[in-house]
Amino acid sequence: MNTKHPSLSQVLADHQLSGDSRFSHKNGQSMVQWPKCACGWSDHPNRHPEHVEQMWREARTITSSEQLDALPAGTVIRDHQSEFGCIFEKSADGEGEVPWWHDGEPHYDLTEINLSALLIHHPDWDTEPHTERR
Ligand SMILES: [Zn+2]
Repeated sequence: MNTKHPSLSQVLADHQLSGDSRFSHKNGQSMVQWPKCACGWSDHPNRHPEHVEQMWREARTITSSEQLDALPAGTVIRDHQSEFGCIFEKSADGEGEVPWWHDGEPHYDLTEINLSALLIHHPDWDTEPHTERR
């Protein structure tokens, strides 16, 4: 189960284009050369940005209550409550027995958060050790 949530810079670093894949085309009559991603993905070069966006979305998708539990205080998520989803923030103010808040209201029952949820903010993303901050 994935409980690590990489930052955008980590996702971008993991999905840089590196080299090419060659494909036989039209029964070997011609070769097609497509760029290859560091993860092994290979497709038309125009689709690489979409691939990276998809990887970023997957890195931010919360699918289990175990992943919800593992998230630190200060995390913000959007669930699948409605068409647009509801925003929940994990308590950062010492109210430990009520982990998730929505619209100023505590949510004791985690089943009110409809998975899968999308990670909007993770506190680790503010404290990347290699990131220079002003
Ligand atoms: Zn990739």
